[in-house]
Amino acid sequence: MSKVFITCALPYANGPTHLGHLRSTYIPADVYARYNRMKGNDVLFVCATDEHGTPIAVKAEKEGKSPKEIAGRYYQMIKEDLESCNISLDNFSRTTHPLHYQIAQNFFLNLYNRGCIYEKAIKQPYCDECNRFLPDRYVEGVCPYCSGEGARGDHCEICGRHLDPIQLQDPRCLICSSTPEIRESTQYYFRLSQFEDEIREWIENNQKLPANVKNYALGWLKEGLKDWILTRDMEWGIPVPLEEAKGKIIYVWLEALLEYITSAVLWARSNKKSWREYWEDKSIHFIGKDIIYHHSIFWPALLIAYDCKLPYTIIAGEYLSLEGRKMSTSKNWVIWTSDFLKDFESDILRYYLLVNAPLNRDTDFSWDDFQRRINDELADVLGNFLHRTFSFTNRFFQQKVPEPSNLDDHDQEIMRKIKETPEIIATYMEDFKFRDGLVELIKLAKLGNKYFNDKEPWKTIKSQPDNAATCISICNQISKTLAVLLQPYLPDKSRDILKILNLEDAEINWKFAEEILPEGHEISNPTPIFTKIEDKIIQNKKETLYKNLGETNSMKGLISIEDFAKLEFRVGKVIGAEKVKGSDSLLKLMVDVKEKKLQVVAGLANKYTSEEIINKNVIVLVNLKPAKLFGIKSEGMILATADTLSVLGAEGAEIGEKIK
Ligand SMILES: [Zn+2]
Ligand SMILES: [Zn+2]
Repeated sequence: MSKVFITCALPYANGPTHLGHLRSTYIPADVYARYNRMKGNDVLFVCATDEHGTPIAVKAEKEGKSPKEIAGRYYQMIKEDLESCNISLDNFSRTTHPLHYQIAQNFFLNLYNRGCIYEKAIKQPYCDECNRFLPDRYVEGVCPYCSGEGARGDHCEICGRHLDPIQLQDPRCLICSSTPEIRESTQYYFRLSQFEDEIREWIENNQKLPANVKNYALGWLKEGLKDWILTRDMEWGIPVPLEEAKGKIIYVWLEALLEYITSAVLWARSNKKSWREYWEDKSIHFIGKDIIYHHSIFWPALLIAYDCKLPYTIIAGEYLSLEGRKMSTSKNWVIWTSDFLKDFESDILRYYLLVNAPLNRDTDFSWDDFQRRINDELADVLGNFLHRTFSFTNRFFQQKVPEPSNLDDHDQEIMRKIKETPEIIATYMEDFKFRDGLVELIKLAKLGNKYFNDKEPWKTIKSQPDNAATCISICNQISKTLAVLLQPYLPDKSRDILKILNLEDAEINWKFAEEILPEGHEISNPTPIFTKIEDKIIQNKKETLYKNLGETNSMKGLISIEDFAKLEFRVGKVIGAEKVKGSDSLLKLMVDVKEKKLQVVAGLANKYTSEEIINKNVIVLVNLKPAKLFGIKSEGMILATADTLSVLGAEGAEIGEKIK
């Protein structure tokens, strides 16, 4: 028996969870935790909400509430989301817990005293109106790399680059909109660059690190590591524990990583155990791929600096898109966990998110595919096999597992498969290949159905009753194996099947999957385990989702006729077109609107090549304030449909004609 320390990436407490979170992190971690418990390992499975950082502080300021109040609201929602998905955490804490302040401050001081943290004066934006420095998301402006508007102090959403707040062009304070000045402030830096060789060695030699984590990390290491700024000038956060650092807090990422330890310590204290034993035996972080950098570079460097054992591995789940588009909470293109669970059982969701694609690949949630897989695989294959087995047992064998007689080759082959399957799935589990294990289970159910069909017990029950008894006995064995091995994947459904088998009180461990049900074992009346999802439910779900998209795409509020009159549309002719270098979707067009020629950058390259769009008549908004897209000036906007990107034409119209 070994001890296993499992963590999930901390959900940020400024919104509830959606299917993307569950798919990349929480469901895989839970499958692994449950599997380990069944193998007899001693598991400590922890998580917490991440409650500091500027997004929560900004939200609180805008709503006139305290950041802790905002975070508390979402802590509760997230906790309920995870519980309703049966995520079997041993502890779910918060980074605002007083013990976490202590742990984070002690850690900071320890590294400071070891000389791993140093001070440096740097230039930072300062708002004179608000009387404070503007870290991270407190400041917005134009990205210096891609000229995208609305870039934040730490990150540009458009080009995805990490930014330093003073790099922003046209910066403005997010609270009062005034232009900040640049002032000097002393901050604390972690000597990350010093640990480059040790981290590289760990990444290269760790056989358990999956390829996606390894490749990202080695890519960054190749560019060279820069020292990492660990503090901010702001109020909301854990104060830097140094006299001379008044008004500074510890950067949210440093302390959020330490919360894995805090949550474990809290659990250990109330259970009178040592969390360290778990950490030192085998510690595994489940995360989404967006935070591989923090876990494969920052975290091991901090641990090395502190003289602490490094994690066993890091499992990074890739992204989930929705109906072929990137999920977006701001555009409401998302399915929230709680909404989903109003209509479907959590095991159905767990099944689909696990079986849909391997964890190390991006994948898509589509309502039609969801319906198809649930109906074809769970209802028609697994559900059907269980139901016909149990019904037959009831009808012809007085609810008892019949006595098998001499096994022929076919029977023996099935018995071998029952014996082999637990080991096959265990190997997948140890390699974090959860999907493969689940597919193996469905294969076993398929095999069961085929066996049932081939043996035709409904015929042999009269002509060769011994053969029918053998077949039904073996089908009950398969059902039991399925029920046990399904437990880490679909815990509720597993329990339902075990209940029919009258095994709900048995000690269910991994080994139990291959043990034989004795003849005469009594089962209960069967009820259907899986039901099909009807078309009209899926239709309804799709309509609701796509309506969201429509609402956010069209203007939400009403505008006045005066507002509309301000927009000047004209018929134009495309007289020049070329692809924008470095972008898949943008075309740079020259459009003749008679009075002048406008340069327009338009997101039409997925629909038209330059040759196809040239000489087309289009409708152009001509009085749009020029903006830069991808560093190229754009002076107008071409009207096109939002999804299919078809330009609105004006065949036969005069170039330059006004549109009313
Ligand atoms: Zn950018
Ligand atoms: Zn301000």
